[in-house]
Amino acid sequence: MELNLLNQDEIATLRNLLSNATNIVICAHKSPDGDATGSSLAWMHYLKQIGKTNVKVCMPDATPDFLHWLPGHNSVIRYDRRPKEVEKAFKEADLVCCLDFNQSSRVEAMKEVLEASTAPRLLIDHHLEPETNNALTVSHPEMSSTCEIVFRLISQLGGYETMTIQCASCIYCGMMTDTGGFTYNSSRPEIFYIIGQLLAKNIDKDEIYNRVFHNYSTNALRLRAHIILNKMKVIEELHASYYTVTKEEMAQFHFIKGDMEGLVNIPQQIKGLKLSISLREDTEKPKTVLVSLRSCNGFHCQPMAAKFFNGGGHADASGGKLNCTIEEAEQIAIKAILYYKEELQ
Ligand code: 5GP
Ligand code: MN
Repeated sequence: MELNLLNQDEIATLRNLLSNATNIVICAHKSPDGDATGSSLAWMHYLKQIGKTNVKVCMPDATPDFLHWLPGHNSVIRYDRRPKEVEKAFKEADLVCCLDFNQSSRVEAMKEVLEASTAPRLLIDHHLEPETNNALTVSHPEMSSTCEIVFRLISQLGGYETMTIQCASCIYCGMMTDTGGFTYNSSRPEIFYIIGQLLAKNIDKDEIYNRVFHNYSTNALRLRAHIILNKMKVIEELHASYYTVTKEEMAQFHFIKGDMEGLVNIPQQIKGLKLSISLREDTEKPKTVLVSLRSCNGFHCQPMAAKFFNGGGHADASGGKLNCTIEEAEQIAIKAILYYKEELQ
């Protein structure tokens, strides 16, 4: 099966970048998810495998608890905790690999440090509209995940035979999380061929599923139930749904990072629903509302995320941010839904 993504020139560029690099930094977007963390760690495992001894994975902030089991996770350096160490790593780097994000603003507070680096940059990503000021841009929005791209690159570089179970587990994790356990964005045969290749490395697929998706605290499950029962609004005639989550509600259920992950997908279980919006107060920054959007049944939420929520993302899974109160955010969501009423009804 054809897995190669790079043409002759691109693969030569990639080989060159790797052979000329000694000090390598890998970074991913803020609030790294399964794909951001999985792809970064998989790429780290590969680079170590080919003899790179100084590879540092630098993340803007924490990964959720349900990803802490990922092999190599304990070596991740967080910019919000150890800014000096991250600055030093970027300063010394002779190759910076940007994984699972398209624009440098997606690393938020770490952006200045990233942009100050003069090292050649390698971008590996599957979001729309990537920045292209890189030594090599590997951008494939049609791919399920950055992890899938990383697998294909390693394969094309001839690294499959020596791929470790650690590397394979990281790749599987990101492919699984970015496709909702292979329920969307995952219909191309190559994906299942790759899964077969990962299974041949002895990864424990069921254990990975359990570690990621069966990891709620009792409080987290009750918080999710509360939102669906008491907060979810459904505009039946427009096949749209939204909910708000306040700081008080999160405090009441002892919220920790990751507790709301994936909840925005649940309203999509309503027959015929086209759009689900999550509006959640930021627990760290005042007057900031974090927005998640999901779409299906022929509607695409990405333009809405860009137009109304200062964001973007994938066609059917987007996000953004509002600098306003949760009440104002709710009004904006209603306005956004009405703006697209022709497509939603
Ligand atoms: P989530 O809802 O899981 O936080 O984000 C879904 C997708 O939306 C992410 O994979 C990312 O592509 C995109 N996204 C989330 N937040 C932002 C944002 O603030 N700006 C942009 N451009 N995209 C975002
Ligand atoms: Mn991703």
